[in-house]
Amino acid sequence: MTQYTWIKNGLVIDPANDREAVGDIFIKEGLIVESLSDSEKAEATQFDAKGYVVAPGLVDIHVHFREPGQTYKEDIASGSRAAAAGGYTSVVCMPNTSPVCDNAGTLERINNSIEKEAVIHVYTTGCLTLGMKGEALAPTGQLKQAGIVAVTDDGLCIQNNEIMRRAVEYATLHKLPIMDHCQDGSLTENAVMHEGEVSLKLGLKGWPRAAEDIIVARNIILSELTGARIHMQHVSSYHSVELLRIAKAKGINVTGEASPHHIEFTDACIGDYNTLFKMNPPLRTEKDRLALIEGLKDGTLDCIATDHAPHSPTEKDCEFDKAPFGIIGLENALASTLETLYHSKELSLKEVVALMTHKGAEICDLPAGTLSVGASGDVCIFDPDQKWTVDAEAFKSKSRNCPWNGRTLRGQVKATFVGGKEVFRLR
Ligand SMILES: [Zn+2]
Repeated sequence: MTQYTWIKNGLVIDPANDREAVGDIFIKEGLIVESLSDSEKAEATQFDAKGYVVAPGLVDIHVHFREPGQTYKEDIASGSRAAAAGGYTSVVCMPNTSPVCDNAGTLERINNSIEKEAVIHVYTTGCLTLGMKGEALAPTGQLKQAGIVAVTDDGLCIQNNEIMRRAVEYATLHKLPIMDHCQDGSLTENAVMHEGEVSLKLGLKGWPRAAEDIIVARNIILSELTGARIHMQHVSSYHSVELLRIAKAKGINVTGEASPHHIEFTDACIGDYNTLFKMNPPLRTEKDRLALIEGLKDGTLDCIATDHAPHSPTEKDCEFDKAPFGIIGLENALASTLETLYHSKELSLKEVVALMTHKGAEICDLPAGTLSVGASGDVCIFDPDQKWTVDAEAFKSKSRNCPWNGRTLRGQVKATFVGGKEVFRLR
């Protein structure tokens, strides 16, 4: 039987098509169509979106679903449900699983699990180097054939510039973007937070901006040299934003993302050694935070990505020095981003939706992020003003390491559709 979906009366915001008007969205056999006939409408699953925004399903090009190897933290089933609850319909998983995704066999195992368990579109990436050791190159061609959308050693930045040059040339040969976690290891040994006044006061080893800036500069130079598309993950330093602005003005093929936490919090949030504010790269200062927002406003930074990084409560509940880096973000990213960018009047609703949909999709060439006729019927329905209180215990994610827990935010996801099928509805 043909499946029809009719989402009615919502404020349709589809930035890729410059659309912002009250209207209806029709989905037939999984794809967006111009309209449905009267008889198709009579058969359709209907959703009354009056008073809500109807946007393309959100896109996150930086998540960790921990499968295989650390499924006590998250797996593809729980991660994709968490994403759906957050309004996401397409995500890109990082390859630092256990084992890491540096060969077609591991990728096939992940792909099988995605096919069986995922409720949204889950895309994969492959490692740049074998074992993410920064030495020998991974078999990018085989990984590409098996379906990856980008290559990255996220979490472990390649330190040797000659190897990085060959890695980006190899990826470019296979028409894949490179995503880099920009961190010079020689400047960040044992570092656990931003190097500055707060780290001094807390007596913790600092991670200076320079460690990020040096690698961002290196990547810009290598992109210019090789023509490679290099994407800077979770940019955190004001100086890196400046470097990217100059590079883009010169037409160099680089992009950057900002995470919801780096545009909202600073190192001062760590307060009394709260490990929920320990991430890599670290939260920095107000100057950095404002520069990231400025970068999103003028297009220097291209998209919002969560770096959803689940860890179990016992792992995070320890001394600051020993706790793992990272936080989860998928289930409150829309609300926290709306608070930081929209309710604060920095950007319009349409601009925020663009940063969370087609802008990220374009970096990884994903068929996602628009409500164009013929696109997959992936839709996020939300109320931008609805207040709700974040309760990490109620999350679909297996992990609870969420610094927003207990906060009241504006912006609530009401329902999420993938290929016209409802995959989340707020009850
Ligand atoms: Zn990273």
